[in-house]
Amino acid sequence: MATKTALITGGSRGIGRGIALELAATGARIAVNYAGNAAAAAATVADVKAAGGDGFAIQGDVAVAADRERLVAETLARFGRIDVLVNNAGVAPQVRADLLEAGEESFDRLFAINLKGPFFLAQAVARRMLQQERDAEGFRGRIVNITSISAYTASINRGDYCMVKAGLAMMTKLFADRLGNEGINVYEIRPGVIATDMTAGVKEKYDRLILEQGLTPIRRWGQPSDVGRAVRAIVEDRFPFSTGAVFDVDGGFHLHRL
Ligand code: NAP
Repeated sequence: MATKTALITGGSRGIGRGIALELAATGARIAVNYAGNAAAAAATVADVKAAGGDGFAIQGDVAVAADRERLVAETLARFGRIDVLVNNAGVAPQVRADLLEAGEESFDRLFAINLKGPFFLAQAVARRMLQQERDAEGFRGRIVNITSISAYTASINRGDYCMVKAGLAMMTKLFADRLGNEGINVYEIRPGVIATDMTAGVKEKYDRLILEQGLTPIRRWGQPSDVGRAVRAIVEDRFPFSTGAVFDVDGGFHLHRL
């Protein structure tokens, strides 16, 4: 596989970092985006280099148009092309509120970061990918959207999060359709419960649900590397005739069981 270049939003910590480290093992060159945690981003870049890849850290809020433009421009300035966009950056609601109490502030924040940002970043990167040469197999680029089991699981104390993830799932289908004949495949990865800073505050609850009550057939927490390995398979082009595909990286959470 030729060395790929990737822009990973929210690559500094958690799942994004796990993706960066897996791609680094393929020799990838990676733009590690972060929102505010420069130290975490620098540590990820150092680990990417140690794992055999290359990269740089780049601050930018995906909810802000000028930041998105800068992310694309700087990645191109460094690497000359963008082979892979991973729309990973995302936030959970700061306060979990019942559907009948939920406020507009949280709604607007989640829609801006988790859906509007990925949409317009995918749009900007796709436009650029369309100008890139295809390789011998017709590859121009790949776009990967990190959604969640919340895309189809109702949690009435964080409806905003569920709605944006459902929107991101539809966004995957839309871009997959639009770009399918252009050498740009688009994929959705739906992680289950993954051990990151995002889930640190609910550790005991999920320890109980997963380890004692068997919430998932595979009775363990997911790790960032579980998601990273799925993205790596996509970047290594293991699914060239698949687009719009959904990968459940969730220990079997999505199964209906009786
Ligand atoms: P995390 O540990 O909280 O890390 C979030 C990452 O996103 C950080 O790198 C953070 O940068 C970055 N970020 C936050 N807001 C941003 C913004 N406005 N612009 C750019 N970057 C921003 O979260 P995670 O658990 O790894 O989650 C990553 C993705 O997976 C999210 O989309 C989340 O919804 C999804 N997901 C997570 C789980 C789970 O169980 N953890 C399950 C399903 C789906 P800084 O380091 O600078 O703060």
